[in-house]
Amino acid sequence: MPHLTTPSAQSLPPSPHSVLKMAPHSKQRRFSSSSVVPDSVSGFAFAFDIDGVLLRSAAPIPGAPEALAFLYNHNIPFILLTNGGGKHESARVAELSKKLGVPLTEENFVQSHTPFKQLVGGLQDKTILVTGGDGDQCRKVAEKYGFKNVVTPGDIIMECPAIWPFNQIFSDYYKSATRPLPTPINHTNPAHSLKIDAVFVFNDPRDWALDTQIILDLLLSKNGVLGTTSEKNGDPSLPNNGWQQDGQPQLFFSNPDLFWATSYHMARLGQGGFQASLQGVWDATTNGAALKRTIIGKPHAATYEYAERVLDKYRAQMLGAHGGRVGQLDRVFMVGDNPESDIRGANDFKSAHGTEWTSILVKTGVFQDGTKPAYKPKVVVNDVLEAVKWAVHQQGWKGKAE
Ligand SMILES: [Mg+2]
Repeated sequence: MPHLTTPSAQSLPPSPHSVLKMAPHSKQRRFSSSSVVPDSVSGFAFAFDIDGVLLRSAAPIPGAPEALAFLYNHNIPFILLTNGGGKHESARVAELSKKLGVPLTEENFVQSHTPFKQLVGGLQDKTILVTGGDGDQCRKVAEKYGFKNVVTPGDIIMECPAIWPFNQIFSDYYKSATRPLPTPINHTNPAHSLKIDAVFVFNDPRDWALDTQIILDLLLSKNGVLGTTSEKNGDPSLPNNGWQQDGQPQLFFSNPDLFWATSYHMARLGQGGFQASLQGVWDATTNGAALKRTIIGKPHAATYEYAERVLDKYRAQMLGAHGGRVGQLDRVFMVGDNPESDIRGANDFKSAHGTEWTSILVKTGVFQDGTKPAYKPKVVVNDVLEAVKWAVHQQGWKGKAE
């Protein structure tokens, strides 16, 4: 996978004033302000997961607006680091700013698929398959990132309904958001048939069956040409018994979470569920061959590396803008609700710059109070507001956080 670099920065948030007043849910609990404003070069920062930490099914979790407003008001840098996605960063940031009452920018926001921006260079003029998300929202996100030729499974089934026989149920859905294929599927002349150069699962697929069939077809194809089959498949004289040895497209997943917190009282299957399902189909088809793919998103180190670069850059701009000296970032507090992704990733991550990542688990999402987390955090607290209080206390905060 190409190296992931920091996206170019654009603008900083407006200067903080009356931020606590902006918080719509600030009546329950709040930090008391102190005349002691911290040294703006404080060497710590925060990374917050969103679902189950700041929001639950689109509604703010009590204490979340206050926690962010407090950090914002005191120039303590933070980023939002989510395995969610499905919309462009600009749209999501605007929604979140409104809901949480704190100005956010794309520069302190990393979604599961944000690091895919860095892959545009090698694929700009190629044709990619993008799946997941509502309608063709993720196609539009990919195009905003710079990918020029983006096909969705909906485009394919509308042009070739026979590719999956049980297509009637979703046909109205697909009709609204499909486009003609850049090249038709030509079974008799593969040289002039649709060729896919990379497959990106941007967000949770909505139609697992169709997406599974099309991704499987591509993984079994010759050179990524839809409707072909590689002669190398199953050849025991080749590596991996010939599977994925014939120019098939690279496969990328943006989010490994098996479960995530929704409005239902039990966690629901996430993109990791789709990946496990596809893995099962692949195992059955290939008799257990390895499935080559690239997975980003928490807990994978590539996402934490990317996040730390984003945070470093954002912090340098933010603190520099407020007249501070910008020293070393010593510690990042990762606040999350999912032991398997947020906590595991923070615990395992080894920063190239010596920054320590400290994991804080909250009880407002996937983690069920009273159970033993699969990956042990530094501390378990009730919610994000308690997480921030605990962390600033650990850092020897001079103001009061009641
Ligand atoms: Mg979460």
